Amino acid sequence: MASLYDRFARSFARFGDRTAIEADGRNWTYAELESAAGGLASRLQAKGVRAGERVLVQTDKSVETVVLYLATLRCGAIYLPLNNDYTESELAYFVSDAGPVLAVCREGSRDLFARIGGSDLAVTTLEGQFESLPETAVDPVSRNGDDIAAILYTSGTTGKPKGAMLTHRNLVSNGEMLVDFWRFTADDRLIHALPIFHVHGLFVALHCALFSGATVIFQARFDARAAIDAMPDATVMMGVPTFYIRLLAEDGFTAEAARNMRLFISGSAPLSADIHRAFEARTAHRVLERYGMTETGMLCSNPYDGARKAGFVGPPLPGVDLRIADGEGQPLPQGEVGIVEVKGPNVFAGYWKMPEKTAAEFRDDGFFITGDMGLIDADGYVQLVGREKDLIITGGLNVYPAEVEALLDDRDDVAEAAVIGVPHPDFGEAVVAVLRANGEIDADAVREEMKRDLAGFKVPKTVIVIDEMPRNTMGKIQKKALRERYASLFTD
Ligand code: AMP
Repeated sequence: MASLYDRFARSFARFGDRTAIEADGRNWTYAELESAAGGLASRLQAKGVRAGERVLVQTDKSVETVVLYLATLRCGAIYLPLNNDYTESELAYFVSDAGPVLAVCREGSRDLFARIGGSDLAVTTLEGQFESLPETAVDPVSRNGDDIAAILYTSGTTGKPKGAMLTHRNLVSNGEMLVDFWRFTADDRLIHALPIFHVHGLFVALHCALFSGATVIFQARFDARAAIDAMPDATVMMGVPTFYIRLLAEDGFTAEAARNMRLFISGSAPLSADIHRAFEARTAHRVLERYGMTETGMLCSNPYDGARKAGFVGPPLPGVDLRIADGEGQPLPQGEVGIVEVKGPNVFAGYWKMPEKTAAEFRDDGFFITGDMGLIDADGYVQLVGREKDLIITGGLNVYPAEVEALLDDRDDVAEAAVIGVPHPDFGEAVVAVLRANGEIDADAVREEMKRDLAGFKVPKTVIVIDEMPRNTMGKIQKKALRERYASLFTD
């Protein structure tokens, strides 16, 4: 099986003088990406980067960082990208856990990495690296499908973050499948405004574009106006739901602005049915929602042709074996809510140096327990109803937050809602709705009105209105933070 670098090399050979990435002020052809990756790989080797070693990366989003990704793979080494928001103590954990030979960071973090890494860790930045790259390129180091190409840390619900080990086979197979499924070609131009330390921006977006010879329109961060400006000259956009919400907030976002686009894809967090419908009303495009996770790559997608159902993430993608199971891994009848479990060439090799945690998240027959709860409808479409840990058990009865949230989202006076469970002396847990209002709202009236549509035990005991939802960089509402904030609401 070809390594991930080999897969990129196929595009370098085939699309050499086509533009791979358009960034502020500079276009990079496929051939330029390859020659820069070759030169930078020589530098990396000179710093001790060898096959299987980890290269820790905490840099700004730039084409140079993409070249660093390619150069790391060319050396046969393991790419380990980190969110820029991590604190010193978190970084110290990643360095001691992953044991990288090299950290590539921003100028301002040099001292910090030198301090936490000690003499075992070489530290460098991308500053000035590209002005005089070595002419002699390292030959690509061959790798097997089962070798590790990247480690991405995922924040655990409890305890320390876990490093998900993604193999060359995981990344190549998932990328190639998505190119076919979403019909990427060399004529595509992809608006890329996602961070590149996460599976969505790094693997899904970049692999779809660069495997197919397309052009990436690289934007350092999402800015609705910049995205709208780029649209007449683009064909595809990938984003998190927040991007679509922000686009809809712009008057300049019209059917005319989106006239040349063939596809808008959303993932990483739930896209509400409301937003899906508002987007269609405005642009005549139905956003294609898909579902995946760091450990598994992409799992489900609404179809390219055929019905894109609002509120559903679509059937399992080709090659993905997906079942809805009970707590013991036994498949449940169609239509019942249970835990999503998956198997396939996309599923990761385990958590770095955590064999017990890895074993605990796989069934004996090889299925990975995602921790997401969902059901499969009569058409074979998966609907997610929340994370297993988000399930609320109140007075012994199960409440799926998504059901209560959907009802709140439907209201004109609610901008967005998160439903959580907090400790309660009588019920074990109590359902609490936290929401952001659209103008004026009467929280008590909201509660009263919900009693019309929901069984009593599902109706929130309290409705709390706040100005800003706590979110992570991928736009996910951080329910854990909300649960902590309101933990003693009923127990003090
Ligand atoms: P991450 O590993 O950061 O990509 O997070 C993966 C998690 O994001 C999944 O396990 C889901 O809980 C959630 N997720 C991803 N895509 C969707 C989606 N389309 N709808 C709802 N949740 C999603």
